[in-house]
Amino acid sequence: MSPQQQQFENFTASSLYCEKCKTAMPVRERLLLVLPDRDIFDYLCTGCGSSVGQREVTAGDKMMMQAMQSRPRRAIPLNPAIR
Ligand SMILES: [Zn+2]
Repeated sequence: MSPQQQQFENFTASSLYCEKCKTAMPVRERLLLVLPDRDIFDYLCTGCGSSVGQREVTAGDKMMMQAMQSRPRRAIPLNPAIR
């Protein structure tokens, strides 16, 4: 894998199509609304500052994200030979 490819993947992970810029732009995540059971995030284009998308994070999602961040999962190879 080339380093360029890796950079591209990082870019797409945090970019969305912006109608004003007419292209996929890197976005900034902003907490828009906090509700009892979910948080709503706004995605802002870093080029022109307009909102290009929103995301809802439910309480369940948050717990899952926190669990994944505090305890990064590693792929444990299954070994059926050892029992
Ligand atoms: Zn834009």
